[in-house]
Amino acid sequence: MDSPLPQDEELGLAVRVRADQLHLLYQQSFPAIFLSVIIAIVLCQMLWDGGRHELLIGWLAAICASGLVRWALFWRHRRRQPEGLQILDWERSYAVTLFMTTSLWGLGVLWICIESSLVHQLIAFMFLLGMSAGAFSHYSARRYMVFGAMGSILLPTIGLFLLSGEQMKLSLGIAALLYMGLLGRASTVLSRAQSDNFALAHRLSAAKQKAELMAQTDDLTGLDNRRAFFARSQTLANYCERNKLPLSMAMIDADHFKQINDQYGHAIGDAVLCALADQLRRSLRKSDVCGRMGGEEFAVLLPDTSLAEATDLAERFCKAYAATPISIAGVEVGNTVSVGVASDGYDIEHLLQCADEALYLAKAAGRNRVVSELNVEAALG
Ligand code: GH3
Ligand code: MG
Ligand code: MG
Repeated sequence: MDSPLPQDEELGLAVRVRADQLHLLYQQSFPAIFLSVIIAIVLCQMLWDGGRHELLIGWLAAICASGLVRWALFWRHRRRQPEGLQILDWERSYAVTLFMTTSLWGLGVLWICIESSLVHQLIAFMFLLGMSAGAFSHYSARRYMVFGAMGSILLPTIGLFLLSGEQMKLSLGIAALLYMGLLGRASTVLSRAQSDNFALAHRLSAAKQKAELMAQTDDLTGLDNRRAFFARSQTLANYCERNKLPLSMAMIDADHFKQINDQYGHAIGDAVLCALADQLRRSLRKSDVCGRMGGEEFAVLLPDTSLAEATDLAERFCKAYAATPISIAGVEVGNTVSVGVASDGYDIEHLLQCADEALYLAKAAGRNRVVSELNVEAALG
């Protein structure tokens, strides 16, 4: 089973589950509007002979009007297409128009029953039972809607039957109360199962996203790992090639890093790597791709950047890094980097190899410097 989420994540999950339930309600209960009107027409037709016509027509008109209001709400919803949590703002309108319709059914049939013969009362009551079963099947995503809908549909007439003093109606009222109780219990179970499903789907999708991110990210520095760097770089390189933009690659390696570990310990070494990664991240544009290639070695792909611009950028970075000692737990650690820069086509493997060769020259020339084809003689000289 999943491990429990922190409290605020659990709260966020509950809100998202509520939003899912509302999306489901809006998606699937549109036909219920028409069904309510059609059933009301059938009921009026059945009660027409012997019923009070003005009462039946008035009630039918009220059901149609409430159906129209509900239709307008659904039409607005379909036009606006609220996404994600925006749907929460639509809950109240849904509940109000739903309870308006179900109350019209409950109170309307009560009124009809008061004025009708026993046969008509029984016919009308059967329709109410059918309507309440419909409410159960349509609204069980939100439990209070099932209870509210079933209660407003059935309770007025059940009350009338219970107070009538007639044995048959009393039995009918009690049976209907039991029926309501059973449907209520079933809706509680159904609604809980549905919420658990929604919650599970959210947990799985969050876990998947986390796993995908972890598979692409270097644990220590939060930069892209080698695999992600290659994937992103190749996409960017293809874009530059298609649009005939210059493309450069820089390989950056911390100098004498082994000495930092030996002198200050591995934990401080890790912190220096993080500081170096942070400084790199801050110096780059959003469109650049930066990754940790392993150990104390980083690579940066610079789209739309010529070799001269990339060399200039690397030199500024190299100077700034060397000039800023890194302060960790009260210890000031000075460090430098060597950088190799290359710009030769759009093949990432080849670019990395060229930048690595330039980096090797920078190390050989004494470290704390940038080497590219443009300054190779000066740097080595
Ligand atoms: P050079 O200037 O030639 O690059 O010397 P160097 O010492 O930086 O290079 P070398 O390849 O000899 O050593 C790299 C060191 O980086 C050794 C290794 O322990 C250390 N290192 C690699 N990965 C990590 C890491 O994740 N954390 C820490 N603290 N050290 C690391
Ligand atoms: Mg090194
Ligand atoms: Mg190295």
